[in-house]
Amino acid sequence: MAFTLPDLPYAHNALEPHIDEKTMQIHHGKHHKGYTTKLNSAIADSDLEGKSIEDILASVSKHSDSVRNNGGGFYNHSLFWSVMSPDGGGTPTSDLGDAINKAFGSFDGFKDAFSAAAKTRFGSGWAWLIVKADGTLAVTSTPNQDNPLMDIAEEKGTPVLGLDVWEHAYYLNYQNRRPDYVGAFFNVINWDAVSKRFAAAK
Ligand code: MN
Repeated sequence: MAFTLPDLPYAHNALEPHIDEKTMQIHHGKHHKGYTTKLNSAIADSDLEGKSIEDILASVSKHSDSVRNNGGGFYNHSLFWSVMSPDGGGTPTSDLGDAINKAFGSFDGFKDAFSAAAKTRFGSGWAWLIVKADGTLAVTSTPNQDNPLMDIAEEKGTPVLGLDVWEHAYYLNYQNRRPDYVGAFFNVINWDAVSKRFAAAK
């Protein structure tokens, strides 16, 4: 069974002015679609067909570079769209808010750590908030389309929030100003969706 490109849960222009319509059209309709198509080609007629994307990523060191890059791209973007919303922003409450305060001292402490990870990732990659095996939260980042589910990741865990810092994610609107894009992302984070991922990951 092939993987399918998920629909965006909102209109292409819904995240403006923080993320512009043209970027969303190309990012979802071209980049994410491309990763999905190439992942399906990479696993066709192999024993990976029919496995979950999580299972494929957990043993990615045994597979081809195409499975690593396109499997990561498929998973990462599917998560990315789901943790944003035009009604997003603010701060997380209840269990996730408590866990963030415990791990980072405060919401601002988390915001500083996550923003630093996103801004200092050299070249293309992602910043993550993950739930580690012991149930605690951590901020990490990965190059290219790698992610913390992969067996090759330096710091492993279940991602509950991810930010794409490839230039294709922001260059049309922000050019070289990655820090402005990172700051704007906090206005569209869907903390309800992140909280659900946190509850499922614990
Ligand atoms: Mn991307």
